[in-house]
Amino acid sequence: MSLEATVDVIGAGPSGLATALGLLEQGHKVKVYDRLGEPVDPADPKIWSAEAGGVEKFYLIGLGGRGQKALKDLGVWDKVSEYCSEVVGRKDWSPGSEEGVERIFTDRPYTTMVLPRDKLVGALYQEVLKKGDGDVEFFFGKDVEVIDFGEAEGNSVQLTVNDCVPAASGPNEGECDVTTVNTVKRSSDFVVAADGAGRSIAEKVATIEKYVDDNVRIYKTIPLKLPADDKDWNWKLNFSARTGDGRFNLDALPASKNGDYCAVMLLKEDDPLAKEGADPDVMREDFDRILPQFSQLISDDVMKRVAAKPVSRLPSFRYIYPRLHRGKVVVLGDAAHSVKPYFGLGANSALEDVIALTDCVKERGLSCGAAEEFSKKRAGEAKALVKLSRGFDRPGKLGFATFILPLILDGIFHGMLPKLFSPNTIAMLQASRTDSSGEAISYTFQEVVSIKRFDRVKQAALVSGVLYAMGKTASLCLGGLATLLRRSKLSVGIASSLVLFFGLAARRFYSSFSDNSAGEVLAKTETDINGKKISKKKKFEDNESFMMSARQKQRERDGG
Ligand SMILES: Cc1cc2nc3c(=O)[nH]c(=O)nc-3n(C[C@H](O)[C@H](O)[C@H](O)COP(=O)(O)OP(=O)(O)OC[C@H]3O[C@@H](n4cnc5c(N)ncnc54)[C@H](O)[C@@H]3O)c2cc1C
Repeated sequence: MSLEATVDVIGAGPSGLATALGLLEQGHKVKVYDRLGEPVDPADPKIWSAEAGGVEKFYLIGLGGRGQKALKDLGVWDKVSEYCSEVVGRKDWSPGSEEGVERIFTDRPYTTMVLPRDKLVGALYQEVLKKGDGDVEFFFGKDVEVIDFGEAEGNSVQLTVNDCVPAASGPNEGECDVTTVNTVKRSSDFVVAADGAGRSIAEKVATIEKYVDDNVRIYKTIPLKLPADDKDWNWKLNFSARTGDGRFNLDALPASKNGDYCAVMLLKEDDPLAKEGADPDVMREDFDRILPQFSQLISDDVMKRVAAKPVSRLPSFRYIYPRLHRGKVVVLGDAAHSVKPYFGLGANSALEDVIALTDCVKERGLSCGAAEEFSKKRAGEAKALVKLSRGFDRPGKLGFATFILPLILDGIFHGMLPKLFSPNTIAMLQASRTDSSGEAISYTFQEVVSIKRFDRVKQAALVSGVLYAMGKTASLCLGGLATLLRRSKLSVGIASSLVLFFGLAARRFYSSFSDNSAGEVLAKTETDINGKKISKKKKFEDNESFMMSARQKQRERDGG
């Protein structure tokens, strides 16, 4: 290993490799370390199809406006997009419904592009090798620790590099066991800790703010093979279904352009299927009963493999604060902020970190000043991202108050007065505005927080104003009526309230027995994230008949 001083990047995930690209572009020399082995070839078809038995080992990353812009700035979007599949809309099955509701996105300035995480890593790795030529070195199977952060004037960062040997057996089989047999010490001018949610380096940089996970979900990924030329399965949609009791949640995105999909099955911890070595027959029965539309897409062989494999945990909500640097070491990506991936912001925001860092280094060189500047730009963003995302993930009534109710309110107010009230938070996280040069840029997470806070103030002011005006009008009317009837204001007020109350009660009683009750109309509709009403299809009364028609279709496809 060379002793020449360079930038050392710890972690060859999306953040580490993108950082390497940005710094190579500026003419720096880069060394990249990862505990794992060399990334796989993103173009190797043997790895990526459901039949090859590989897809269930990976999960997919959706790249939205944030990630795509960052990769364009790094000059690699053309390459990465070769391995992506586009997603133009969603098809959702609400609990128990037979037919999904399809919605094509028309409100986004970009098309979401999806690819397996390991394909993204493979593509970035190839680009780093190409761009780096003699200026980049990779060390796989190495675990790096920071011993000295180079805080004192003129000091370098001190690292130790150890071998990582995959455990041959036991509960951590295949995972990295660090051995200190061949420990190498290194000094470095500047270090980027992109070591993911494990964040061993971040712990020594600043305080880790972690939230207790009160809504634990674990997941297994399932490869699906979608039929060709079937109007029920448009290969450019994000499919999702869930059960009303919150037990099952399935979300599927395209893993290739050939109808290979990768579904993430989210389960509660105590679910009988949420374990390694689950019973594949029970899993099949559950799928047939609860998610028959997906069951038909999973062969018995795949079902067995999925039931057998270990479960994975979603990352928990954490961020480091108040800074993302110490001396000449910066922390970015999942190491700096981790969120559950429901809204596809982890890798996208990690790539935004990378652009912020390369801008700081461009201005201030590989210095403590650049590291400090990076903290100023991104520490607030890390905090805002995690706090926003956590608000979307509270259980029960708290979830209603922090997630559903704000969505409903925003749907109503933005629908009524779109110039005065912004769309809901999820839409705002995906929305963009134009900067001074006319380029479309996403709102920062801190901007979204303050826009939504201001919206709440305006909503409260509007509601109070309307209630006040109604109160005043009612008081005037009561006064007039009392004079007319020669009764006191109080007795007229009580009498009118009783008439109103019994009138409403009678209307409700009547309407609950009529064919078109308000409740039924509500039950037949639901709103999308923009508050627009979408119709819900008829209830699943007999899954068996659906399964029969699904199996018939499968037989026809198989030529049987
Ligand atoms: C199921 C699922 C779905 C997701 N979907 C999306 C999505 O749609 N959109 C989105 O934007 N994000 C998504 N994410 C989040 C996304 O995967 C992460 O945000 C992203 O991978 C973070 O990249 P990273 O490089 O910071 O960290 P990682 O990808 O975790 O990479 C860290 C690397 O560092 C290495 N490492 C760790 N410690 C050391 C050490 N001490 N020495 C050397 N190497 C080390 C690890 O081996 C690893 O290769 C999803 C995540 C999950 C789990």
